[in-house]
Amino acid sequence: MTNDDEKIPESSSEETTEPEEVTQLPIHKLDISRLIELDACTSCGECLRWCPVYDQDASENIVPRRKVIDFLKIARDQNGLLGKILRNDKAPELLKSILTKLFNYKKMTQKDVESFVANLYECSTCGQCEEICPAHIDTVNLWEDLREIIVDAGYGPLEAQKALEKSVKAYDNPWQQPRAGRTKWARRAKKDKLVPNEPRSIKNGGKVLLFLGCTAAYDANVKQVAINTVNILEALDVDYGTLGKDEKCCGSVLLRMGDPEHKRLFEQNIEQFNNLGIETLISSCSGCFKTIMQDYPKVGELNFEVLHTVEFLVRLLRQGKLKFPYSVNRTVTYHDPCHLGRACRVFEAPRIIMDAIPGLKLIEMPRNKQYSRCCGAGGGLKAGYPDIQNKMAQRRVKEAEETGADELVSCCPFCYQGLQVGINALSSHMVMKDMSAYVAEALLGYDVFEKATKDAEAAKKKKEADKLAKEKEKAKAENDEEDKSAEKKKKAL
Ligand code: SF4
Ligand code: SF4
Repeated sequence: MTNDDEKIPESSSEETTEPEEVTQLPIHKLDISRLIELDACTSCGECLRWCPVYDQDASENIVPRRKVIDFLKIARDQNGLLGKILRNDKAPELLKSILTKLFNYKKMTQKDVESFVANLYECSTCGQCEEICPAHIDTVNLWEDLREIIVDAGYGPLEAQKALEKSVKAYDNPWQQPRAGRTKWARRAKKDKLVPNEPRSIKNGGKVLLFLGCTAAYDANVKQVAINTVNILEALDVDYGTLGKDEKCCGSVLLRMGDPEHKRLFEQNIEQFNNLGIETLISSCSGCFKTIMQDYPKVGELNFEVLHTVEFLVRLLRQGKLKFPYSVNRTVTYHDPCHLGRACRVFEAPRIIMDAIPGLKLIEMPRNKQYSRCCGAGGGLKAGYPDIQNKMAQRRVKEAEETGADELVSCCPFCYQGLQVGINALSSHMVMKDMSAYVAEALLGYDVFEKATKDAEAAKKKKEADKLAKEKEKAKAENDEEDKSAEKKKKAL
């Protein structure tokens, strides 16, 4: 640390003369490497220039360097010699007073800790600060570890985030939906003729497990991701299967908010996946992908490889098994999901796919790849600070509009949801898409949703025409009958 601390405005609450019992954070549970990293911050302020949350809420307290400073203050207060003396009831009051004046020492209050907690959660864990930090501080893991000790001490998560947390624990999904509803999308898709068949079950075998994730399975507005992915795998005759109603949340939500229960979900999922005998797990959700690929191995070994669907498709493309016979004549711009791009360094796979689709024209936003501006959907930010997320999404959508593209594409149901918030708020002309939509269209020659709508309209028109024809026929028969009986009456007279 430098002495720059003094230059940065204080974030602490007002001083109180009342003696107060502050709930201590279990700092001893932090990995030593985290503490070393905390000390590496030079307060250079580079993170302030890049943080997408600070961009929308210009509060110095939320940027990494302030969080680091505030946490170190709490740590010193709790574990430093001065803090210990000042908190010791048996220490003489005179000594405490002299030490306080001598070192200009300020005891941390409960309010200070709570304010630090609120600031720590005002972050989408997008990893932009980590990318540009000259001291290479592993901020995302640092924030997540700090959140875990905060939850341990009873300070977190935020009230507004608790519904997500409770839902994952009670229903194995963050969307407060019953477990039985996980496969509803598939039955509905089959009925609406959006998929040829319901997705295959991995219980019947298969080398590839398609892990759908909670958002694509439960959110009706994002169901296109699951539907298109299934159509792609079916069209390519991939030996795949899904877990159906046995799929559980990947646990990302709990991990990002600091709930230690994520480990239970990780362990259960790892055991379930390892027993399937699969070679590869694929997911079209960047959040699930990052969690399973990067975070699961910290808890248990995986006996299969983990790929995002776009990486899997690039492999098939290179093997000559994936070809795009149809054009998708669209001008699009691509949003790199933080969890896929910055976190897992998957920048090229989506661009290789877009480049291979005939007719598809990509115009990049100035902030792309490792500098992609976060849409604000992750890290519990959308639940905790929906207004900030909304503004972040609007900012990203404006950048997309400025490219002149008509459609905004990403590779993540969470980004799809998040960016749609911005599109709606701005009444933007941009159309939100998932990459799977373009792949499916270039493979099949049509958009399954448009085709299903057209087919349904055509079927409705035919039904109406048939009904009209029948009515005409009936009216004609009735007329003929009337004519006949009139004829009869005439003859009888
Ligand atoms: S960029 Fe890194 S070193 Fe600079 S203030 Fe932010 S966290 Fe500290
Ligand atoms: S992870 Fe992203 S949102 Fe969080 S502090 Fe860093 S730059 Fe800001």
